[in-house]
Amino acid sequence: MDLETVKSKLHAMNFRLTQEREWVLRVFMESGEMFTAMQLYDRVKEQYNKVGLTTVYRLFEVLTKLRLVTPFLIDGEIYYTFCSGGHHHHFVCLDCHRVKNIYGCEMDTRDFSEIGKIEYHRMDLFGHCENCQGSVPSC
Ligand SMILES: [Zn+2]
Ligand SMILES: [Zn+2]
Ligand SMILES: [Zn+2]
Repeated sequence: MDLETVKSKLHAMNFRLTQEREWVLRVFMESGEMFTAMQLYDRVKEQYNKVGLTTVYRLFEVLTKLRLVTPFLIDGEIYYTFCSGGHHHHFVCLDCHRVKNIYGCEMDTRDFSEIGKIEYHRMDLFGHCENCQGSVPSC
């Protein structure tokens, strides 16, 4: 999903896309990473110092309503990644925080009728991406 499509969806929600909100949205969408609100705020601030933390929270809130983000709970912190398109799962690198989409889900072909009627499922994979394997942790 491109920026213009997201902008029109936000517009339909009566969410006024001010310049600073658009900056945050652009950085978030183009990153391919997951962020806590504070981390995204820090990232955006590197380029646009007029952005406030509240802006990031508001944007996450409205994108959540539009189902355009996926939250991950890691060590008690909520990380968000931009998410759109058909059914898929995620691989999350715990080192660089990049998120890769995994398509071709086989869960729907399995029979869970003995357990109950499944409405939807979630599954995300967490680990170390190719780039980060074998590298010495920077901290
Ligand atoms: Zn996704
Ligand atoms: Zn990585
Ligand atoms: Zn699936």
